[in-house]
Amino acid sequence: MSAKIPNPKTSRPKIALVGIDGLRIDLARGTGRMPTLDAVIGQGVFNELVMEVPTLSGPGWSTLLTGSTHAEHGVRDNKFVGHALLHRPDFLSRAYFADQSTTTMVAAGWPPLVDPADAGPVIWERREQQRSGHHRVIARDGETYGYQIADAQVADHAVDVLAGKGPDVSFIYFCDADDEGHVYGPHTPQYAAALDRIEGHLSRIAAAIRRRMEELGEDWYLVLTTDHGHLDAGGHGGDSAVERASFVAATRFGGSLEHWPEALAPAGLTPLLLECRQG
Ligand SMILES: [Zn+2]
Repeated sequence: MSAKIPNPKTSRPKIALVGIDGLRIDLARGTGRMPTLDAVIGQGVFNELVMEVPTLSGPGWSTLLTGSTHAEHGVRDNKFVGHALLHRPDFLSRAYFADQSTTTMVAAGWPPLVDPADAGPVIWERREQQRSGHHRVIARDGETYGYQIADAQVADHAVDVLAGKGPDVSFIYFCDADDEGHVYGPHTPQYAAALDRIEGHLSRIAAAIRRRMEELGEDWYLVLTTDHGHLDAGGHGGDSAVERASFVAATRFGGSLEHWPEALAPAGLTPLLLECRQG
């Protein structure tokens, strides 16, 4: 296959953000359990993030995905009552609003993130862009059917879309680790097995992106983050260091990370990703 040479005037860097709910980064990084995570950090950058309290998924993801503080997005818990998300567009929507040739994809199994029939959703539905082929929504229900299944389906479909259309800006979300953390705690074989499964998903995502870089000459950011950690006994929501501990790990296939900041706040991720799109 001959490599296509992208037009530098029209091609901007592409971004895939992977959200791993409830990841205890201290139990994942450098343990040999998640070599793709370690490779992203080793070849790229790593920021520690300290999440706002309450360390719950609704407020946490709303902050990371819209670039807003808890006070700004108004998401106080996982019920989303009285939220202001209609005034706080997510980073996929903002990338599209900035340039209406932008293609986006979200793939997630936690319904409030993505399902228009549920609370939220944090990621705007943008039905017109779905109909025009500019926005792809892959929604599953891990709350009802289990995250081991939902995450695997999310990964399969996301990898298929990444390899096929290669959308400009994507968010792909996994919740298996958080689910096992709640039931068994993070220091258990069940949590470790969830990390193994997520590593399998991550490695396929990274491989799909690397192949596009090699075969099409595209410039890609692969970015990983989490919304909170877990207490040693399992559970989160409070203000302990392990619950508030998050991170951003990023690597770039085909470009420099010199502009990446040394310190990052949770609400700073979305503006940073939008800046990365500018080249
Ligand atoms: Zn969460």
